[in-house]
Amino acid sequence: MADKSSFLSHLADTLRGIEADGLLKRERQITSAQGGRVTVAGRDGRMVNLCANNYLGLADHPALVAAAKTAMDEHGYGMASVRFICGTQDSHRALETRIARFLGKDDAILFAACFDANGGLFEPLLGTEDAVISDALNHASIIDGIRLCKARRYRYANSDMADLEAQLQHARAEGARFILIATDGVFSMDGTLARLPEITALAARYGALTMVDDCHATGFMGPQGRGTPAHFGVDVDILTGTLGKALGGALGGYVAGPQPVIDLLRQRARPYLFSNALPPAVVGAGLAAFDLVEAADDLRARLFANTTLWRAGLADAGFRLLPGEHPIVPVMLDEAPLAQAMAAELDRRGVYVAGFFFPVVPRGQARIRTQMNAALTRDDLDFALAAFAAAGKAVGAI
Ligand SMILES: *Cc1c(COP(=O)(O)O)cnc(C)c1O
Repeated sequence: MADKSSFLSHLADTLRGIEADGLLKRERQITSAQGGRVTVAGRDGRMVNLCANNYLGLADHPALVAAAKTAMDEHGYGMASVRFICGTQDSHRALETRIARFLGKDDAILFAACFDANGGLFEPLLGTEDAVISDALNHASIIDGIRLCKARRYRYANSDMADLEAQLQHARAEGARFILIATDGVFSMDGTLARLPEITALAARYGALTMVDDCHATGFMGPQGRGTPAHFGVDVDILTGTLGKALGGALGGYVAGPQPVIDLLRQRARPYLFSNALPPAVVGAGLAAFDLVEAADDLRARLFANTTLWRAGLADAGFRLLPGEHPIVPVMLDEAPLAQAMAAELDRRGVYVAGFFFPVVPRGQARIRTQMNAALTRDDLDFALAAFAAAGKAVGAI
């Protein structure tokens, strides 16, 4: 039996191993509000920020700050309770109804985060007789949520519809009662969209249900930002999402779907039952965010104009991009040291990016994931493109 000091030195060894592999993540400190340009501790000037999920640029929007302040004035700071004891205010229900209406669903239920929404979704809905079929690139929270449920688990290669069909047949052959297909609406490392027309067609053919996590789409993909199902003009059964990205960027998650699904989650979803209600400021600003987003065709137009310009500029400079239409634009550099060198060169030139390498993406597929948003100006993009060209030459990437 080892003692406590050997436990702590064991952890320190693990940390040294992470660092030796070049995989240690160091957090920089932003000293301004989140936005197109940010100030960063220990640096002069403002950096162009290309790695926030602030797609519509709402993270510092005055209307959301004001709505949060008003909500605190009227409803206080904290709830000091889970929802079912004494943590539900009128505004929580108003936001749930608002989300459901926006997404065209019967009802919705709030969680502290989408990580919790996905973590709590599967276990109450599916039992040992059931099957869940999951895309191999699904978000960690879907993977964890599925691990917590007792259904049989099947996995298909990313967006491989032949494999999905094979798994549907497999699940049926093994006698599944209900089958749920679970997918991200947008795969966040690649910026590719799930093939929802084919997925929903296969689901219909096999009598399966569909669940889409639309964190990287709600607010800006599809008409009025209603997400990937609206983008493709298809219907899915269950949607999960976050208030922490395009919808103001604070925090909070939700599940939207048929009434019995939402009602059962309210009775049984563990992260809902055993975790605090969202604070009034977040709920009040969340309500205001949906008003802004619904009317934000101008911001969506700017977001996609920026995306087109950015993709073309990087391609012209000679960078290899993953193809796509989403504001996530991955710049492929293959090897982790090159991605890290490139990120360091960009940092020196006033551009804030994040390099992604194993284990977040497969070995040999290291990249810098850039993300467009509506807060970036033409000047910001020109500045960032010049920095990419210079940094790419400095490290020999182009
Ligand atoms: C960001 C994200 C989450 C987690 O959302 P939070 O509200 O931050 O917990 C879940 N799923 C996907 C696909 C995401 O991109």
